[in-house]
Amino acid sequence: MDYPSQFDYIIIGAGAAGLMLADTMGKDSFFKDKSILLLDKDAKKNNDRTWCFWEKGQGKFDKIIHKEWNHIYFSGKQFSNRFEIHPYTYKMVRGIDFYDSYLERIKAYPNISFRQANVSQVTDNGTAVIVSTDKNQYSASQVFNSIFHYHMATHQTEYPVLQQHFVGWVVKTSAPVFDTDQATYMDFSIPQKGNTRFMYVLPYSETEALVECTLFSEELLPKKDYETAIKRYLKDDLNCTEFEILETEQGSIPMTCYDFQEHHTANIRYIGTAGGWAKPSTGYTFMSTSKKVPVLVDYIKTGKPLNKLNFKNKFWFYDLLFLDVLKKDNADGHQIFESLFKNRNPQLIFKFLDEQTSFLEDIKYIWGCPKIPFIRALLKRIF
Ligand SMILES: Cc1cc2nc3c(=O)[nH]c(=O)nc-3n(C[C@H](O)[C@H](O)[C@H](O)COP(=O)(O)OP(=O)(O)OC[C@H]3O[C@@H](n4cnc5c(N)ncnc54)[C@H](O)[C@@H]3O)c2cc1C
Repeated sequence: MDYPSQFDYIIIGAGAAGLMLADTMGKDSFFKDKSILLLDKDAKKNNDRTWCFWEKGQGKFDKIIHKEWNHIYFSGKQFSNRFEIHPYTYKMVRGIDFYDSYLERIKAYPNISFRQANVSQVTDNGTAVIVSTDKNQYSASQVFNSIFHYHMATHQTEYPVLQQHFVGWVVKTSAPVFDTDQATYMDFSIPQKGNTRFMYVLPYSETEALVECTLFSEELLPKKDYETAIKRYLKDDLNCTEFEILETEQGSIPMTCYDFQEHHTANIRYIGTAGGWAKPSTGYTFMSTSKKVPVLVDYIKTGKPLNKLNFKNKFWFYDLLFLDVLKKDNADGHQIFESLFKNRNPQLIFKFLDEQTSFLEDIKYIWGCPKIPFIRALLKRIF
């Protein structure tokens, strides 16, 4: 069968950003006469990640929520607490449930086709964008690309590029160990070894949980180091020696204020992590993507050059200072979070990280952090 090779739009990558974008365009009548091609090298049949986010009340992913928690636990070196997070809930979506439900819907839109292909090159020739795959060549008026490579950000030195990197195990324990209504958001009680290291625990039941060893730092660790930390945490902190590993996940999310803007062209827009949509100070990307996609879709409808849309706001500068501090004093990162959770409630922390706080609330939040490192970072950026 011969497939068409010319489209109005091509979306590269059927991950979080590509699928949310395709779905939003598919259900919008503006695009009903436009042809859209969605390309991914992968069939998206594996549960390759889980996404968590906080949200007030009901939300658009509720149908595919795997688990949600009403409390979070934070532990630093000297302070720990279980917090009720109402009106927020901490929610989890499994990758496979998201891919299945979005692909099923997207495949039903008559104007969108999904093809599995490895994209090797994308070129904007001014009037059209040429997308080359291993076997074919396609063209479109506009292309949205979610292929991310670290070198997109690491070729410069003005903005630090850290990583939120982790290995996680879904474990099944022989005895009840986990509190099912509490997600361990950050547990810094583990040895820091010169970095910002914490454990993250998402219980599915009293005997089953995703346990992750996570770092905010520049360099990845050998895989066995994360695994040793998970085993040690299960044994020493959760008093659990007998368990089975049901699933594993691994990831590295860029933490940077580098402006991905320079990669876009009038007709190519990078989206998702590749578009700089990962929140620089946390690595959380899923909700940020779900909020940016409708803005991008409205912008596409204006017909303006894709590289003129800019998402930068005041939080970009706050994140920049945070990353400057985290890079300079990586071993002391835990102190920032400990100070924050000791002095401020999680509702304000979530609101700030959602970029919804007023200027007064920003000051209140920032004042909850250790002051000297931030003042030093501020002066360094100004002078
Ligand atoms: C294991 C893991 C857990 C995470 N957990 C969270 C979380 O809890 N909360 C949160 O907010 N964020 C989380 N993130 C960060 C972020 O939300 C995800 O990385 C998210 O998937 C980013 O969406 P994306 O569309 O930019 O990239 P992806 O979802 O990675 O999509 C990119 C797509 O491009 C395809 N692709 C790549 N190269 C090619 C090519 N050459 N040709 C064709 N297709 C290609 C890939 O197959 C993939 O489907 C996590 C990340 C990882 C890795």
